[in-house]
Amino acid sequence: MPKTSPSCSECGLLNCYRHDKHFPDFCLTEGADREVVESISQLYRGQNQDAVIARAAAEVEGTYYGKLTRVEEIIAFANRIGAKLIGIATCIGLIQETRVFVKILKAHDFQSYTVLCKVGSVDKTEIGIPDELKVKKGSYEAICNPILQARLLNEQKTDLNVIVGLCVGHDSLFIKNSDAPVTTLITKDRVLGHNPAAALYTSNFYYQRLLQPGQKL
Ligand code: SF4
Repeated sequence: MPKTSPSCSECGLLNCYRHDKHFPDFCLTEGADREVVESISQLYRGQNQDAVIARAAAEVEGTYYGKLTRVEEIIAFANRIGAKLIGIATCIGLIQETRVFVKILKAHDFQSYTVLCKVGSVDKTEIGIPDELKVKKGSYEAICNPILQARLLNEQKTDLNVIVGLCVGHDSLFIKNSDAPVTTLITKDRVLGHNPAAALYTSNFYYQRLLQPGQKL
């Protein structure tokens, strides 16, 4: 059995960031195989895609820290990795926001190609989802089809794919099947206005239920 705790979430020092404190006994940095760390560091050097992405992300962070919105950061990042065609994997519930994003991309000289989550229009019952689990029971209700979203964007040979509000799990399938690197513009939270962090910020009072053990969801 792998040892799962303590890990970085139990560390109050975070010394790996600036070397201004000390490493805890259980530190994952101290415990890591240095050869593995060095071989992974090699992946961030040179001109391979991972290295280009790593440097572009760091450049956007370092240049615009706290100054740009995420919409703008995606544009800045896309420019730095040389992306021309942006794929958008959107949720139907966020199609209006996607349309605005497409206009913004155009204003910044990007091409874009959008695939809606319901593409393919396969009824949920066709993949074994019972009618009682439909949002609107008794109606035709298409599955979210993240694998087809990814395949269609792969066919277009998009340079960077952007998730706009895909569901939990559908996003996993999209990321798994996307050829292009993926980033997220909007993380869906139907209750909290797409700000899932709000549940964590308010878990000391309004969302205390999150911390109650034994709740099976
Ligand atoms: S790597 Fe070490 S210092 Fe960094 S957060 Fe994890 S345990 Fe703490």
